[in-house]
Amino acid sequence: MKGYRGRFAPSPTGPLHAGSLVAALASWLDARAHGGQWLVRIEDTDRPRCVPGADREILRQLAACGLQPDEPPVWQSRREPLYQAALDRLVAAGAAYPCACSRKDIELALHAKGRERTRHGLLVYPGTCRDGLHGRSARAWRFRVPEGTVAWTDRRLGVHLQDVAHEVGDFVLQRADGLFAYQLAVVVDDADQGITHVVRGEDLVGNTPRQILLQRALGCAQPSYLHAPLVLGANGEKLSKQNGATPLDLTDPRAALARAAAALGIALSPHGTLADALAQAARAWGERFP
Ligand code: GLU
Repeated sequence: MKGYRGRFAPSPTGPLHAGSLVAALASWLDARAHGGQWLVRIEDTDRPRCVPGADREILRQLAACGLQPDEPPVWQSRREPLYQAALDRLVAAGAAYPCACSRKDIELALHAKGRERTRHGLLVYPGTCRDGLHGRSARAWRFRVPEGTVAWTDRRLGVHLQDVAHEVGDFVLQRADGLFAYQLAVVVDDADQGITHVVRGEDLVGNTPRQILLQRALGCAQPSYLHAPLVLGANGEKLSKQNGATPLDLTDPRAALARAAAALGIALSPHGTLADALAQAARAWGERFP
């Protein structure tokens, strides 16, 4: 496919584990199946959560698995002027506004309205600062979410609908600590890097409508989305460091890749070179997700 550009965008909160390798492999297979470019972007905007050296370790692990990016990796922490410029444009357009509310303020306002938390404990912002700060000082910047349902089609999961205004509310673009939020950084970077196809774990599916709204507000093209299955931990939740995912054992990269491919429903041949087996897996992927 001409012009296909995909990416793997790990947060360097630790080395890759079995679950994150699945996301990496899915995005690589999709890019290769479509004759596209595959990029790696280190998403280190949330600095307090980043682990020093995890970025280098992730790149080493990907290389050990034969997953080589087609361009030098980029680090979000070096791209903050881009996020600031995007925020400035949203503010100028009236699509973003300063917010003085602490988490406690939001909880109290929701409680007063008889509304408690919904979506995974996420607080739906009650809109306190939508029409001004009323003398309080700004802490964060929020996106003014338009009314209406966002509809989009995932290449694996089909049609999705989300009423972002009511299910999520006006979400944060720049946090009280000055760091840019994932939602803004990911949209700016996907657009700036010309990403045409986003392939990532299914845990991020609920973020996609927020990102689509930001793309619309910033006039960015909407990439196509495919959310890949997750590897679940023993407790039935997404495998993560918090529920016991151990770093990948790469003494046998091919075995680790075979397990990741199996999680995607793709067989990785034990025969021939790893490069040939991966190329064959990409063809199988391409038949499933043309
Ligand atoms: N950095 C995010 C994560 O590791 C993924 C972002 C994305 O693929 O859009 O969960």
